[in-house]
Amino acid sequence: MLTEIKQEAFEKELKENENVVLDFYSTECPPCEALAPKFDSLAELYGKDIRFLKIFRQGNRELAEKLGVMSSPTLLFFKNGKQVGETLRGGIHRSQIMRNLDTMLPEDRIKEIHQKIKPITTETEVVVLGAGPGGMAAAIYLAQAKVDTILVDPALPGGQVSTTHQVSNYPGFVDPQPGFMLAHYMAEQVKAAGANLKVAVEVNKVDLANKQVLIDGHHTIRAKKIVISTGASPRYLNVEGEKEYYGKGISYCATCDAKYFHDKEVVIIGGGNTAVEESEFISKFASKITMVQQLPHLTANRAAQERAMADPKINVLLAHEPRGFYREGDKMKVKVEDLRTGKINELLTDGVFVFVGMKPNLDMIHDKLDKDAWGYIKADDEMRTSIPGVYAVGDVISKKYRQITTAVADGTIASIALAKELN
Ligand SMILES: Cc1cc2nc3c(=O)[nH]c(=O)nc-3n(C[C@H](O)[C@H](O)[C@H](O)COP(=O)(O)OP(=O)(O)OC[C@H]3O[C@@H](n4cnc5c(N)ncnc54)[C@H](O)[C@@H]3O)c2cc1C
Repeated sequence: MLTEIKQEAFEKELKENENVVLDFYSTECPPCEALAPKFDSLAELYGKDIRFLKIFRQGNRELAEKLGVMSSPTLLFFKNGKQVGETLRGGIHRSQIMRNLDTMLPEDRIKEIHQKIKPITTETEVVVLGAGPGGMAAAIYLAQAKVDTILVDPALPGGQVSTTHQVSNYPGFVDPQPGFMLAHYMAEQVKAAGANLKVAVEVNKVDLANKQVLIDGHHTIRAKKIVISTGASPRYLNVEGEKEYYGKGISYCATCDAKYFHDKEVVIIGGGNTAVEESEFISKFASKITMVQQLPHLTANRAAQERAMADPKINVLLAHEPRGFYREGDKMKVKVEDLRTGKINELLTDGVFVFVGMKPNLDMIHDKLDKDAWGYIKADDEMRTSIPGVYAVGDVISKKYRQITTAVADGTIASIALAKELN
């Protein structure tokens, strides 16, 4: 049901088949590895109606360039010789592929195909939710202790590390490591240890009490124990225009986006450690930074504050709060309120970065767990939570310092305690 082709065969395939899906893959490409089993199983399911093709991108550059394919994997859909649907790239979910395949077929046929999807169940000893450093450390220790372990993540492995520009404080590397490389080494170590890595999957339901996780809509993983290592995400300001301009003028990740502001002006919202430290990084690119801080003082550590204050590119607006984000031509307009006078001022800028803290990723967890006042899970010194058999590690737990090393340490402790408990 799945055919590997060379670029010379492509036009013929398009002529002979009404519906075609084409996967540009590469070797040594983790998102391609994550896609392969999904593509295989969908070829089984849809293969009578849609032609499933694979093509090695590096070996068929001419076609890749002609079709505008710049990265692997890239999935393209064709109907009657014309490209249709979305172009899918990176950590592709099964439902995204199905959504595009379904647009090519009549409704009654879609129904028949969907009815053929059989629920499957996998039994394991431990399921680890979240393939950041905490979850990956836990999976490495568990797998090396011969504990059957499945590590599940809706994204590609690495968590926050994958979006970190350089990591210089993780022991074992003399030179700073690009975050994506460190994440890659960790994921390779997880695989080498023998844990089953299921990444770029949809996590549909988590049932902590019964130790069950439903992924990709039809696959239930039943475990004896669960480790929650779902990390944390940025907090939003919830003001006008924030959602609308997310990723289109407003960013939450300096590492990812600072490079787009070379010689440009930016506004940074926040005045804590992250805001101040990230402003130093952004200052390498931007020509001017205006930091908007709600309090009458910055709250970052003194050394970071002193460095920021000494940077002539950084100006600080204290006791100001953002009230809305708007587009004005190719600029962003930020309305800020002076909290001392109530006066609204407008800042025109090229881009906005928001650094106002993090929140634990627990949207999928509906079981009642003991948490602190900020919603982080309370765990004991062996990382046990208030639900028997459920552990939690890393940034998602209530603790003072959230770093790669501390997440890895939590994962280590949980997995040793867990392996003993399972024995
Ligand atoms: C920009 C930036 C720079 C940083 N720089 C450094 C640094 O230089 N040094 C340092 O030590 N620390 C740094 N940190 C902090 C460090 O990255 C985190 O402390 C660390 O990644 C936490 O690891 P974690 O495994 O707990 O969570 P995360 O890294 O947040 O990973 C959590 C994972 O869980 C997944 N997940 C979410 N929901 C679910 C779900 N329902 N089911 C399954 N999986 C789910 C996510 O997709 C993610 O992959 C930085 C953080 C940021 C944001």
